Amino acid sequence: MQLEHLMDKLKLEHLSVCLDSVCEQAAKRELDYRSFLVEALSAEWAGRHGRGVEVRLAQAHFPAIKTLEQFDYAFQPSLDRRVVRDLSGMGFVERAENVILLGPPGVGKSHLAIALGVKACEAGYRVLFLTLEDLLTRLRRAQGENRLERFLQQLLYPKLLVIDEIGYLPMTREEASLFFRLLCRRYEKASLVLTSNKSFLDWGEIFGDPVMASAILDRLLHHATTLNIKGESYRLKEKRKAGSVEPRAPVPEEKPEEPAA
Ligand code: ADP
Ligand code: MG
Repeated sequence: MQLEHLMDKLKLEHLSVCLDSVCEQAAKRELDYRSFLVEALSAEWAGRHGRGVEVRLAQAHFPAIKTLEQFDYAFQPSLDRRVVRDLSGMGFVERAENVILLGPPGVGKSHLAIALGVKACEAGYRVLFLTLEDLLTRLRRAQGENRLERFLQQLLYPKLLVIDEIGYLPMTREEASLFFRLLCRRYEKASLVLTSNKSFLDWGEIFGDPVMASAILDRLLHHATTLNIKGESYRLKEKRKAGSVEPRAPVPEEKPEEPAA
């Protein structure tokens, strides 16, 4: 059989594209048969992995691609970079734990949430990004169309679900209860990364009911890392540099509320 035909049958599409250069390199470096095979298969593997990452990134529906490498830790000294580095190892996704990013607008909550999502895509996990508003709209629609069960089941596919912007809009009891159902489904099975501009003490207000909020926090925080970012808005950094905006007033220390037993 012809080599091209064999590669086609074996679906070695990436190797078939770069075969000439792999052979040329092997000749130059005088590789033995075994080392040549390693090079050839590595080229195929790298291509497949890269394609897989691209597909997962597209399926995640991130509003923009942000990476941990782009994050300027010097600008956010309250953030412990060791904790972020630890999270970037993806152990929390493997263990189906949650990450909660809290802080005022502009401190990089969404950036970090997306960056952790990007890392998860690179590590081979399925990811989905939704704002809380999108999520609730889709949950309500699914309920109205009698397919809530199926939708909740679909929301289990991504091993990491990012829910951005909790706290900007108050929820009705019905919405809070839909959110709680989603949380129960994913509890100890799959990870959530949540961002919120409100401290846990204010979550009773967001969920329209302190009992519901405490049930939600109980599940959410059982296996979770919380990052409380207390810095300046990065969005206003440039303006501040130019001296056109006053710095943010210091925020009083907040203690996260203990989850209900
Ligand atoms: P938040 O979600 O907390 O309101 P964002 O994550 O949307 O804030 O950050 C606002 C903008 O500033 C984004 O474009 C983000 O990429 C950028 N940004 C925020 N913090 C940093 C940082 N420490 N280093 C680099 N870029 C940052
Ligand atoms: Mg945000």
